[in-house]
Amino acid sequence: MAELARVIDGKAFAERLRARVAAQVAALQRTHGLTPGLAVVLVGENPASQVYVRSKAKQTRESGMAAFDHHLPADASHASVLAQVEALNADPAVHGILVQLPLPPQVGEAEIIAAIDPAKDADGFHPVNAGRLWAGQEGLVPCTPLGCLLMLKETLGDLAGRRAIVLGRSNIVGKPMAALLLRESCTVTIVHSRTRDLAAECRRAEIVVAAVGRAEMVRGDWIAPGATVIDVGINRIDAGAGKTRLVGDVAYAEAAAVAGAITPVPGGVGPMTIACLLANTVTAACRQHGIAVPGT
Ligand code: NDP
Repeated sequence: MAELARVIDGKAFAERLRARVAAQVAALQRTHGLTPGLAVVLVGENPASQVYVRSKAKQTRESGMAAFDHHLPADASHASVLAQVEALNADPAVHGILVQLPLPPQVGEAEIIAAIDPAKDADGFHPVNAGRLWAGQEGLVPCTPLGCLLMLKETLGDLAGRRAIVLGRSNIVGKPMAALLLRESCTVTIVHSRTRDLAAECRRAEIVVAAVGRAEMVRGDWIAPGATVIDVGINRIDAGAGKTRLVGDVAYAEAAAVAGAITPVPGGVGPMTIACLLANTVTAACRQHGIAVPGT
């Protein structure tokens, strides 16, 4: 099948965003003596979480910011995680706080997220920031959907009036993605596991954002010719011979034969998430000090 779609290179895009963040950090240090700081709290030994946390700390330091890592044991009590978050809320060197999810069962996830100072909520998961996003107010926006939006705007320019569909309604991807597209004046449809005839809903859209966590669920004949497809999904499937490989929520080869532009998996949405986390930390630091984000 011929590949017609333009490939949206998330890796290159993330590199440019990280360079922009590093320049902003240097300007803040020069003009205000301010070094933004990001604290990451990891509870337990989840191997995937450890990889994410290491890579967040590395990229934070590479951008010139301060990285604070707090690793608590897997049996840490709810109260001790809460106390850690409260200490970071009170620390003036920390401008962004991220609690790596998932948390062990004895720690109440919703309560911990709600304990983060919304002004330092680098992940944008706090209910106050979720509410601000839907209310059209200034807040901090979840990193993955923010990265998707930046790539869509660079690919398509003005998004106003475009028909967009978001597959998935989670609090960390689907819902904030829909809110961001609405803020750009798209006509937004949100679909989920109880939607009737997903394929027909999808075929009407000029913008498709897939975030369902189902390997290659979105087929080529669900995509309207020329549509822009953003694949958030990260699914590990059996590749035979004892090997596995990563695929998205979209059947890539089929979709690329009809779409106008598409993100690959890996190398699409994934790299943008940490870059947006760095950008959110700079934004949070500037707001806490009442200064405009340099260079934006
Ligand atoms: P969740 O499991 O929290 O949400 C999945 C959503 O998809 C739900 O709203 C669910 O509907 C819907 N859904 C599930 N199955 C179907 C189906 N058969 N038909 C229609 N809708 C369905 O996942 P997340 O939002 O956290 O993540 C989605 C994907 O994105 C995952 O693959 C995840 O790994 C990836 N991801 C990637 C990131 C990145 O940096 N690239 C960051 C975060 C996530 P319902 O609500 O009805 O149950």
